[in-house]
Amino acid sequence: MKQIWAPWRSVYIGGEHGEGCFFCEKLKSKEDEDNLVLLRGKETFVIMNLYPYNNGHLLVAPKRHVGEIEDLSEEEMMELFKMTRDMVKALRAFKPEGFNVGANIGRVAGAGVPGHFHIHVVPRWNGDTNFMPVLGDTKVISESLEVTYKKIKESLEKNCASLVNKKDI
Ligand SMILES: [Zn+2]
Repeated sequence: MKQIWAPWRSVYIGGEHGEGCFFCEKLKSKEDEDNLVLLRGKETFVIMNLYPYNNGHLLVAPKRHVGEIEDLSEEEMMELFKMTRDMVKALRAFKPEGFNVGANIGRVAGAGVPGHFHIHVVPRWNGDTNFMPVLGDTKVISESLEVTYKKIKESLEKNCASLVNKKDI
């Protein structure tokens, strides 16, 4: 089944203090599977992008509602990068040929949720188009988010077991 998704910038725009913020709302809820939250660490968590550019497009974010990279604590920075590394490792199960890893800071730069910092992890395959459609129109995704969620979960348990079984990182 083919589904067409909006690009990542159309993610709901969050409020000033976490009120109505996409990340804070999902974090507050305990329905991780329904919310496509893949992993919770001590300072950070991982959620699937509801408007993925590619299959397996993940977002790694601090738990704290903080918008600017320079306001991140040392612990948050360390864990954001560790989580990003481990998500790349988990996504290797999809046999991507490359990754885009990065952050859009500020709405002008394409941030869909400018109030809550997050790192995009996007697996890439030869033949998917270049990076620009990320900021453009729509993109056809060949797999449902729920199916991809289950696959990534399986890969995490297989390849990053120490991470999944630990409460703190
Ligand atoms: Zn937030």
